[in-house]
Amino acid sequence: MSQPLSERIKSLPASATLAMAAKARELKIEGKDIIGLSLGEPDFNTPEFIKEAAIEAIQANYNSYSPVDGYAELKDAICTKFKRDNGLAYTPNQIVVSTGAKQSIANVVQVLINPGDDVLLVAPYWVSYSAMVILAEGNPIEIRSDIKTDFKITPEQLENAITPKTKLVMLNSPNNPSGSMYTKAEYEALAAVLEKHPSIFVLSDEIYEHINYDGVTPFSFAAIPSMYERTVTVNGLAKAFAMTGWRIGYLGGPEWIAKACTKIQGQVTSGTNCIAQRAAITAVLAPVSKIQYMVDEFDFRRKRIIDLLQDIEGFTVNVPKGAFYVFPDISFFFGKKLNGTLIENASDFAMYLLEEANVATVTGDAFGCPNNIRISYAASLEEIEEAIRRIKEAVS
Ligand code: PMP
Repeated sequence: MSQPLSERIKSLPASATLAMAAKARELKIEGKDIIGLSLGEPDFNTPEFIKEAAIEAIQANYNSYSPVDGYAELKDAICTKFKRDNGLAYTPNQIVVSTGAKQSIANVVQVLINPGDDVLLVAPYWVSYSAMVILAEGNPIEIRSDIKTDFKITPEQLENAITPKTKLVMLNSPNNPSGSMYTKAEYEALAAVLEKHPSIFVLSDEIYEHINYDGVTPFSFAAIPSMYERTVTVNGLAKAFAMTGWRIGYLGGPEWIAKACTKIQGQVTSGTNCIAQRAAITAVLAPVSKIQYMVDEFDFRRKRIIDLLQDIEGFTVNVPKGAFYVFPDISFFFGKKLNGTLIENASDFAMYLLEEANVATVTGDAFGCPNNIRISYAASLEEIEEAIRRIKEAVS
């Protein structure tokens, strides 16, 4: 029987991170001892105080459809959080709670992008951004950076990428996959460019906000006064609160964008899970000190993995200031043979590591950085040490 799928789904790339995880799973089933450093998921359990809030919500019979844009108490809590952590004054009618930050971002792209609009993706960028733009029939346009500039773009690069078709710029700091963080001054320099182009909007993905190191303070793009009216700030609980499966994300932004996101969500998924939302009230209002133990542990592993990777010939290693990934440049190996396997690009290299070292990483091609691979250190110290030992052996 023919399988007449829509052009839309046929044009959609599969997620490279999920593809790598699937391949790793396959090898595991074959009996290989695979260490998975490809997924962006904390290896902690959700903190007890959040679990208790969820149990209370079940006992209190929170089981009906919730308001599409989220419970009023949760939206109030999110406003409090935005003010406390980001200096952003949002009112509840500017907030929409969604099924993960992923849905928040997808909503924004759907409500802003017309077919043929250009969306600037500041590379490296999270894999799903380009797919979401393609789904909305927009054009994903990469602005590339590399390890020499700590994976940040310059104002000149932004200026040069802007055309009359540019509608949206997608920013992400702390960044997945590089862990880089834009400073206030760096964001202000990008904002100065956008001030000259008043019809361009900005999505600022701040989901790794609380996971930062070395005293670097995260900065919200919307906190620049001239950018507030045209920036949507996206955040969520998955990463910092070890709540990936709970599926809570949210946005704050101009009321007309929030309303449009509520409209699309009302037709596609409705309000997100009611129990998770009740627990989210507790999580969002909790002082950041309550989750610091996880950040401290990530920091410990970060230092260790950097040390170990710096010791491997051919790896140029960045020092991430946030999130839980390192993004080394491995272009040294391009054109060389490792144990008889020709490495032409980062995808070959990641596949070689999977097959030879039995370590799953992700090719930088997926993030618009073809010289790199992403290694997640959201894994136990033992796994990290063993994985890097194997990688070193496989490339020596
Ligand atoms: N943005 C970035 C940069 C991410 O890395 C992720 C998760 N990998 C998301 C958004 C989506 O988060 P959520 O699980 O809340 O949908």
